Amino acid sequence: MNSSPKPVTTPVAAELATSRTGTTSDVVATADEPHAANASGRLNWLRAGVLGANDGIVSTASLVLGVSGATTARSSVVVAAAVGMLAGALSMAAGEYVSVSTQRDSERALIEKERQELAETPEQETEELAAMYRQRGLDEPTSRVVAQQLMAHDALRAHLEVELKIDPDELTNPWPAAFASMVSFLVGAAVPLIAVLLSPRSWVTVIAVALALAVTGWLSARLGGARRAPAVARNVGGGLLAMGITYGLGLLVGHVI
Ligand SMILES: [Zn+2]
Repeated sequence: MNSSPKPVTTPVAAELATSRTGTTSDVVATADEPHAANASGRLNWLRAGVLGANDGIVSTASLVLGVSGATTARSSVVVAAAVGMLAGALSMAAGEYVSVSTQRDSERALIEKERQELAETPEQETEELAAMYRQRGLDEPTSRVVAQQLMAHDALRAHLEVELKIDPDELTNPWPAAFASMVSFLVGAAVPLIAVLLSPRSWVTVIAVALALAVTGWLSARLGGARRAPAVARNVGGGLLAMGITYGLGLLVGHVI
């Protein structure tokens, strides 16, 4: 799971307005832009949180059902739930940390490379910027004016935004991403753990998990603007299938050993 809040590509008009040349249209655009970026960033975080919780529910519940298939010893099932919950949460956090760190390092390397190019070959870089604006529909003279003004104002930012789609102020930070993955996984995993603590019967866990998966399926469809009923059906169905498979494996292994 890789959650990197990235604002959607802005149209040329908005990018031109953010050049901050001091006109009034400027003020309007800079007032609007951060809102749009924040809203999409928050949506990405929410979506990542729901996905993390879903992971926690399905993997811990499958573990619980697998162990239940193999043994009737209640303590084994509870230990499996607790250990599975922690192991999954730590693994999610580590995975997210590594993935986001790598992304950040490559963004930093790209920024450094761009900085160097701007220092060494500014004329070439101005032409590059103008060419990118022509590609987006500006005519020759306008593209030159835009490129020159952007180069004069904040050359690095202009190149990062247009050429690499990187906002140097919003470099991805691996720590919050890792923490969020861990917490969301723990919240999800708490569902089967609590079910196991409350009742030794497997069907109680299955029902609790199915209800929780209906909620996360509904939420993710809502956040993504998709139809809710099929999303809920897929999510619950997938979870039940996972639990069924691990229960079957547990029965088999429990029989053999
Ligand atoms: Zn460049």
